[in-house]
Amino acid sequence: ESHRLEEFARLPAVTKDGTPVVLRANIGLVSDMAVAQRNGAEGVGLYRTEFPYMIRGDFPTREEQYRLYARVVEGFDGQPVTIRTLDIGGDKGLPYFSPPPEENPFMGWRSVRVSLDNRDIFRTQIEAILMAACHGPVKMLFPMISGLEEIRACHEVIAEARQTLSAEGIKFVEKIPVGVMIEVPAAVKMAGQLAKEVDFFALGTNDLIQYMLAADRNNPLVNKYYDPLHPAVLLVLQEVAEVAAQQQKGLCLCGEMATDPAHILMLLGMGIREFSMAAPFIPRIKAFLRDLSLNTAEAAAKKALSMTDSAQIRHYLQQVLNNNL
Ligand code: PEP
Ligand code: MG
Repeated sequence: ESHRLEEFARLPAVTKDGTPVVLRANIGLVSDMAVAQRNGAEGVGLYRTEFPYMIRGDFPTREEQYRLYARVVEGFDGQPVTIRTLDIGGDKGLPYFSPPPEENPFMGWRSVRVSLDNRDIFRTQIEAILMAACHGPVKMLFPMISGLEEIRACHEVIAEARQTLSAEGIKFVEKIPVGVMIEVPAAVKMAGQLAKEVDFFALGTNDLIQYMLAADRNNPLVNKYYDPLHPAVLLVLQEVAEVAAQQQKGLCLCGEMATDPAHILMLLGMGIREFSMAAPFIPRIKAFLRDLSLNTAEAAAKKALSMTDSAQIRHYLQQVLNNNL
């Protein structure tokens, strides 16, 4: 069977009735690049840059970051690479930068909050990203945005980074697409306004689910509360898909939930057309999509959205999948 799946890696991601879908890779380390290419990823929907920071002894210099990002961008040969700025804190620490102990790290000082409180480190990373954009299509993504103030502050740091680079006479790309992760429930409610400040959204369902349902994504005791098919989660995903469509903003879902065909059925039916995932899942999702018609997905999503309990939703989606075989 793995042979058959490898063949799917080379075929376009398109539904049975011809609707194109974009499947990108989530990457962290450079070694993920070969895995992404082997599995037929269309570029990178989420480059988690904290990984290269985690395996070092000190903060990388601008030059080191630039060289790393440029290598990744060149490796994808004209396909877009979405570089997410540092997302440390929560469960991700750095050996040389330990945040003060917190009672609720996931609700605390993490991600873009750490970056905005360490402007030099933040600006250095943004400079490296703008420089790497000379090597191919790069998008810049900010994590953990909860409202307009943070994205405006990020835009300020981008402006500072441009000034620094110009003053130093260094080559960089002036304007690249800028996006925010929708992974804090407040950002869902602000999506209409956030859309006016950015070019695209990335739906971070790993965090969005944990924050919506108040269930730590890493705590096995609350596993059963962490539920991608909770009706409230589905309503919220639907809301984001609608805002993105209305405002004509790109939308890529890059949480783990995209690796499950039952979820893809739902999400495709809601109008989401771009997914980013650990690359080994891409061929089987592609195989699944090529056997699925958009009508089936739309009807299933509509019906599932009218249901009030996730066991029922899961059972129903599974039934649709079985009938589709
Ligand atoms: C997410 O939160 O869904 C996400 C994709 O980012 P991370 O898993 O790195 O927090
Ligand atoms: Mg996240």
